[in-house]
Amino acid sequence: MIYTFKGGVHVEEHKNTAGCRIEPAPAPGRVFIPLSQHIGAPAKPLAAKGERVFLGQKIGEVENALGCPVHASVSGTVVEIAEKRTALGAVVQNVVIENDGLEERAPGLAPANRPLLEYTPDEIVEVIRQAGISGMGGATFPTYAKIRSAMGKVDRLIVNCAECEPYITANHRLMLERPKEIINGAKILLRALGLRLAEIAVEDNKLDGAEAIRRAAEESRLIAIRIVKTKYPQGDERQLIYAITGREMPAGKLPADVGCVVFNAETCAAVCRAFTEGMPLIDRIVTVDGDCVKTPKNLLAKIGTPVSELIEACGGLVKKPEKIVVGGPMMGFAQWDKDTPVTKGTSAVLVFSAEAAGDRGAENAACIRCGRCAAHCPMHLIPTLLQTYAQADDQASFEAYAGLSCVECGSCSYVCPAHVPIVQYIRMEKFRINAAKRAAAAAKRQAEEAHAAKNPAPAGEKGGEKA
Ligand code: SF4
Ligand code: SF4
Repeated sequence: MIYTFKGGVHVEEHKNTAGCRIEPAPAPGRVFIPLSQHIGAPAKPLAAKGERVFLGQKIGEVENALGCPVHASVSGTVVEIAEKRTALGAVVQNVVIENDGLEERAPGLAPANRPLLEYTPDEIVEVIRQAGISGMGGATFPTYAKIRSAMGKVDRLIVNCAECEPYITANHRLMLERPKEIINGAKILLRALGLRLAEIAVEDNKLDGAEAIRRAAEESRLIAIRIVKTKYPQGDERQLIYAITGREMPAGKLPADVGCVVFNAETCAAVCRAFTEGMPLIDRIVTVDGDCVKTPKNLLAKIGTPVSELIEACGGLVKKPEKIVVGGPMMGFAQWDKDTPVTKGTSAVLVFSAEAAGDRGAENAACIRCGRCAAHCPMHLIPTLLQTYAQADDQASFEAYAGLSCVECGSCSYVCPAHVPIVQYIRMEKFRINAAKRAAAAAKRQAEEAHAAKNPAPAGEKGGEKA
């Protein structure tokens, strides 16, 4: 049986690197490790300028808030703590480490010393938190927090190996070359959640990957493979959950609200390595491709490596680049700095010429009311209407037509014959609305704090003082 969802588009696959084995990228002379590579609060630096750090050493920590610690991906000396723009555009602090090339491992990093069954769910969650693992499919939600929020609420665990974005083949190669890591990571997550089956979702253009998983699973009853149709955005959590379980996630709800939890394949592998090697998340597979790249590859890159060094590791450029995209061509982000560092969420670096980037001169494009965008929207929205409201900054109408549930997949823009940049307008409007909501919440909090400071509660009414 092949599972699928309603809507979506068939995009040109360009999986040029599907046959390219994962190669370690040359270690960079310096790494730039952002202290915020995850959803939540940024980490606070634990290492100062001039300090020597070891491979895998914790160099940033988040306390009492949602977030992940960060770790040194090389051994060497911290040369500065500097602000730098991430691939997503935010300016965050980076720990800059001069690599000494010694790969000296941090003392105390050790594999799990007990069988998995002797770990309690809380202990598993803590190992994953300490390893700094966040969603590696691009969402970067802290994995420990995802597990905690799913505990006792879910009955389906899905491993996302769909990899529906064009060009990217990192998960495909992981399935072929290190399937045991995916499987063992999934088993650890099953144990944490008290479940008995991990459903591994693979698109039907990667059947060799599914076969590698099947062989490595050795007929384990804990693992099932679900073949999903090759269609974009099949890898989106909502579409995957619907395709496999038939459960629809209402707007504003989380997978756990419909009894499901989804982990990316590489996240599972990172969970596995945290237990089997004691190594936190310090590297990841990055597909480097695009018509400007001389020899496209899948590289195992250290977190903090400038993307320019990955391009060099692929033989450099053979054409004048117009656009460098971090992530896939549908949902990735165009870069203004070729030295943007690789983070835990960087699945690909794509370099396109003007011809391949396909600037369609859409600024003055007008909608011809064909309805194709609505027919293909996997969230069943009316993109053309949302784009009109976004252009007019009519936030009330945009919200009334569920604009905030747009997953920014870009299917609408992709199919639009008038080349209207629909998703760009929608993304900007979502950003404006969310920023306004955050500002309103902060103002409310400040007003409440000011009110409380001016009007302290009488002593007898304070908690714990009544008796
Ligand atoms: S409106 Fe949003 S969810 Fe719908 S197709 Fe466009 S980008 Fe995707
Ligand atoms: S696909 Fe483009 S032209 Fe057609 S209705 Fe949507 S915005 Fe208009």
